[in-house]
Amino acid sequence: MSERSDDSAQDLSGDDESFSPLGATAIVIGGSMAGLLAARVLAEFFERVIVLDRDRLPADPGARAGVPQARHAHALLAGGLAVVERLFPKIGESLTRAGATTIDWGSDFAVHAASGWMPRAASGIVTYGCSRDLLESFIRRTLASNSKISFVDDSAVESLLPSSDGSRVQGARVRSRAGRTRDIVGCDLVVDASGRGSHAPSWLASLGYDRPREIVVASHRAYATRWFAQPSGARNWKALLQSTWTPDVTRGGLIYPAEGDRWCVTLSGAEHHYPPVDAEGFLEFARRQPTSVLYEAIRSARPISRIYGFRRLENRRRLFHHLARWPDRFVVMGDAACAFNPVFAQGMSVSARSAMALHACLRNAQRRGSLAGATRRILGALARTTAAPWFMTTVEDLRWAATEGATRRWYHRLAQRYLDRVSLLASSSAESNRRSLEVWHLLRGPTALLHPSLSIEVLRTLLTKGVRPLSPA
Ligand SMILES: Cc1cc2nc3c(=O)[nH]c(=O)nc-3n(C[C@H](O)[C@H](O)[C@H](O)COP(=O)(O)OP(=O)(O)OC[C@H]3O[C@@H](n4cnc5c(N)ncnc54)[C@H](O)[C@@H]3O)c2cc1C
Repeated sequence: MSERSDDSAQDLSGDDESFSPLGATAIVIGGSMAGLLAARVLAEFFERVIVLDRDRLPADPGARAGVPQARHAHALLAGGLAVVERLFPKIGESLTRAGATTIDWGSDFAVHAASGWMPRAASGIVTYGCSRDLLESFIRRTLASNSKISFVDDSAVESLLPSSDGSRVQGARVRSRAGRTRDIVGCDLVVDASGRGSHAPSWLASLGYDRPREIVVASHRAYATRWFAQPSGARNWKALLQSTWTPDVTRGGLIYPAEGDRWCVTLSGAEHHYPPVDAEGFLEFARRQPTSVLYEAIRSARPISRIYGFRRLENRRRLFHHLARWPDRFVVMGDAACAFNPVFAQGMSVSARSAMALHACLRNAQRRGSLAGATRRILGALARTTAAPWFMTTVEDLRWAATEGATRRWYHRLAQRYLDRVSLLASSSAESNRRSLEVWHLLRGPTALLHPSLSIEVLRTLLTKGVRPLSPA
């Protein structure tokens, strides 16, 4: 019953000899993860790809205002990494050279959840422990060496430029910080990847189109993050997660390793229990968790940054694909279309899968020899890519009483009960843990959790007294 995620089957030749362009120019609004991955794909189908970003893009890995979330722990899940590795085969080598460490999510990741400590056995689900800045910088630098792709920074898109009859988008107006405006016209495809704060709804409205319906599911969670020098000493884990769970455990945290022998320590508070951003409060929040492992690890570690807070963690989905009227040659992807509560670390991986969905649609258009009808197909494919991760994340958020923005339906409750059982089983069996990890890493669709090897066990736990978590402290 389980299915390998469909992306893995797609052809990704990147073979320049067979290059028959779908158009001369594509532009991407936003040069963060979704925009970068889209640009990589677009370069296979257009003669020229221009990536516009309102920030000044740093030459090396470094913080920038447009992605404040980069200061917080960022894990590229195995499902996302698999796609990124196909688009950028040298990524592993490059990240490792820069000091990233590999993490097997079974053996290297100590995870404490409602059912206790998860089993520590090699899972084969391996990702890189590195900063988000390093990841983005590697991809940006690689793309910058592609002669078809150019970056135009300090260029905030203000509006979309329509064709004379208003039926399609054919460019964008950008403004620099100094106030200079410039029109980029004659584009064959415009991709908005400008993140949660995208102005796509108002851009559409100003062209005479309807705004999309927007669903916001907010569990009132917040992050506080501080970076530490990794203390010396023996530990049997490389990364550590102390989960939150309903109804009582509203304080959680993550220690995630990064290049330069650093730890990114992100504390997470649910239901308005916001982690403090002062040093004493931060430590106290870490101390008041169900296990002392995270607190003990950081209490005498050397901080190397201030503490950064982040509160815009709601799930936000814009139903662009439901609009009856839509301008041709304009698509929206990444967080601009669907942003997730990052506690499940799906955003970058969903962007990667969305890039593959874009690739598949453009490949079909290329086979047909035309972009006619492609815009709608792309919108639909992007929406399908976000549907399962959206369901998984909102089902989890709807466990919290404070969550607003969606009605708890019977199928949410059913899914929650089933997932509770899966989680309990996962704590007692390395094999069940691996299956569950595969789904959370977007390597398989959620239906993999209904595989008989798991569902029969789930039924058994419902009929008997349940399972005994391994849970060694
Ligand atoms: C606190 C936090 C933690 C997260 N942790 C994880 C994690 O562990 N794993 C994971 O996979 N994902 C995580 N995410 C999600 C992840 O950051 C995003 O999903 C991912 O970056 C893809 O987003 P994006 O590229 O669509 O938009 P963004 O990353 O938000 O980037 C938008 C880009 O558009 C530019 N821009 C904005 N407006 C304009 C404009 N008008 N004109 C030109 N440029 C513009 C910005 O400068 C920026 O470069 C986290 C998010 C948050 C908030």
